[in-house]
Amino acid sequence: MRYQAFLIKYAEIAIKGKNRYLFEDALVHQISRALHRAEGVFKVYKTRGRIHVEAESEYDYEETLDILTKVFGITAICPVVVLEDEGVDELRAKVVEYLGRVYPDRVSGGCGNQNFTFKVNARRARKNFPLDSMGINASVGEAVLEAYPAMKVDVHTPELMINIEIREKIYLYSESVKGACGMPVGTGGKAMALLSGGIDSPVAAYMIAKRGVTIEAVYFHAPPYTSERAKQKVVDLAALVSKYAGNIKLHVVNFTDIQMLIYDKCPHDELTIIMRRYMMRIAETIAKEEGCLSLVTGESIGQVASQTMQSLQVTNEVCTLPVFRPLIGFDKQEIVEVAERIDTYETSILPYEDCCTIWVAKHPVTKPNLNIIKKHENHLKDEIDQLVKKALETREIIETC
Ligand code: ATP
Ligand code: MG
Repeated sequence: MRYQAFLIKYAEIAIKGKNRYLFEDALVHQISRALHRAEGVFKVYKTRGRIHVEAESEYDYEETLDILTKVFGITAICPVVVLEDEGVDELRAKVVEYLGRVYPDRVSGGCGNQNFTFKVNARRARKNFPLDSMGINASVGEAVLEAYPAMKVDVHTPELMINIEIREKIYLYSESVKGACGMPVGTGGKAMALLSGGIDSPVAAYMIAKRGVTIEAVYFHAPPYTSERAKQKVVDLAALVSKYAGNIKLHVVNFTDIQMLIYDKCPHDELTIIMRRYMMRIAETIAKEEGCLSLVTGESIGQVASQTMQSLQVTNEVCTLPVFRPLIGFDKQEIVEVAERIDTYETSILPYEDCCTIWVAKHPVTKPNLNIIKKHENHLKDEIDQLVKKALETREIIETC
């Protein structure tokens, strides 16, 4: 007996009133999309208040579960055993066999589990089954007690809920695996994430995607000062985030000439902040072209000189789109914990250079003055527009999924 299906539970999206079907359809779509990565053929469909995933071929259980736990909008995944309807006696026997297989120690009273409490929760959606729901509960409950004397019924707070649904076939499930929660991607508009090779920005992109937002990304590199490997690291990070966020269109912008010009024409202690303003300007231009409604960065107050309140204000000033900084109040350790959980951390800490760190000043300004920054940016005016235009035109687009 093995799992041939998964029942998908979702909470937040169920409360969306009339829009509910849009959210359910988006979730069905995201599950189907994600399962394309899995070996095997699956049917994904919704019935009233539920989404079902059924395997139509051999498949890898662990891999499939791993994929499903990364789909936003799912609160829990219940692996389901699908039984042919062969009558009540056969159902009783199959439930007993199922419990013995899934909970071998607990049903036999091992490991100090003298009172493994359970409740049978039957639903008869197909009315020609000989017993009604109450009858199934009683009959199957009795069979379980007979087979496993160490088990006890508790209808109020059972440790184990044995769910039985009588439809065309019979669906049996009791296990529940925690889902990624959040909202299905595709229900919340589109955002442009500034993705570096660091720890923070992939986490920031993940967090915004979790609210149902489709993510595109932009990465600024500075060849030959930053290497192909540094770029590949960002592509890899985008691919890791896309396991949750779905396909990510990554725009790779060559930032070298802009950075060199700023280095030549502006005070070095303002290099980072002016550079950040150009990154935001370019990111916003691409975002608007692509129909994104916001920018996303991995900034957190006070983490480095360019992330003081004053610096954030000066950086923000060039943007007209809202800039979301989901990590703004996070400590580094908290960010690292999320990065480890979503599996981006190991890639993020690979020691490749980032364009931000190449010409970084010994003592960058921590309280930049907007008027002074604007005055110094004026030194760039003869050449910068042309360089920005070229950077936009020559950008490389990489799709990750
Ligand atoms: P991260 O760990 O995300 O690199 P950080 O702590 O290194 O962040 P900064 O280097 O100041 O901080 O960058 C702040 C934010 O600016 C990043 O989180 C990211 O959103 C964006 N950013 C920085 N460098 C780049 C880059 N080369 N390309 C795209 N975005 C970048
Ligand atoms: Mg960085």
